[in-house]
Amino acid sequence: MKYVGAHVKITGGVENAPLNAHQIGARAFALFTKNQRQWTAAPYSADSIELFRQRCREYGFGPQQILPHDSYLINLGNPETAPLEKSRLAFLDEMMRCEQLGLKLLNFHPGSSLKKVSDEACLKIIAESINIVLDKTRSVCAVIENTAGQGSNLGYTFEQIAYIIERVEDKERIGVCLDTCHTFAAGYDIKSEQGFTETFEHFDKVIGFSYLKGMHLNDSKKELGAHVDRHEEIGKGELGIEPFRRIMQDPRFENIPLILETPDEQKWQEEIALLYKF
Ligand SMILES: [Zn+2]
Ligand SMILES: [Zn+2]
Repeated sequence: MKYVGAHVKITGGVENAPLNAHQIGARAFALFTKNQRQWTAAPYSADSIELFRQRCREYGFGPQQILPHDSYLINLGNPETAPLEKSRLAFLDEMMRCEQLGLKLLNFHPGSSLKKVSDEACLKIIAESINIVLDKTRSVCAVIENTAGQGSNLGYTFEQIAYIIERVEDKERIGVCLDTCHTFAAGYDIKSEQGFTETFEHFDKVIGFSYLKGMHLNDSKKELGAHVDRHEEIGKGELGIEPFRRIMQDPRFENIPLILETPDEQKWQEEIALLYKF
């Protein structure tokens, strides 16, 4: 089964996310666990939690179909102590919010060296951050998203992600989310059929499909290897429609959330329907 959906809004409360997803014909969704531009937020009310759970049951969204995304403020690889501590606390808070909602995954961008330490030192800090947070929680899997490699953001090669995973103690609670736009912008040619085949063979060899917990389906405004993260509507960018057809027809991408983060949310319903036609 393919679970396609989009990153929906939580305006008015987290309990509105499953409703928003249902209304656009989604079988999966992503959400921010709180306002992503703020470090802290009020705890969820008991009513909010209950309504979220009730609506997920009602509309058929199980925990494997929901991929929460952490705040963009968080940098688990920050080389400086005070902001690193702030990021770890904020990430822990998000993990606990996921647990309250009965969710099993939390997607995050690995982190940035801010060009103050080596890439390797930064990857070690990220792994340590993950270990600390997993140690303080019980059930949520930390899902590393690959990046386009913009600025000093790490996690743009499969080897970097594998390096982090190797250092995470609880292998049951670490996973990967591949963003098609980021993968392409990072230099992996998933546009051509041969490139698609080779990229995912390489992914399987370096990381392994057992770690793949979700995908972000975005076309790319920028060309192969541009290291710039600019999402485009499905089929309207540099990738074109074919890579998305291949993903929809490939059993390796079944039973995980496949999430649109394309720029025009008015088109999500149409894009979801288009993908399901494949
Ligand atoms: Zn993404
Ligand atoms: Zn992106």
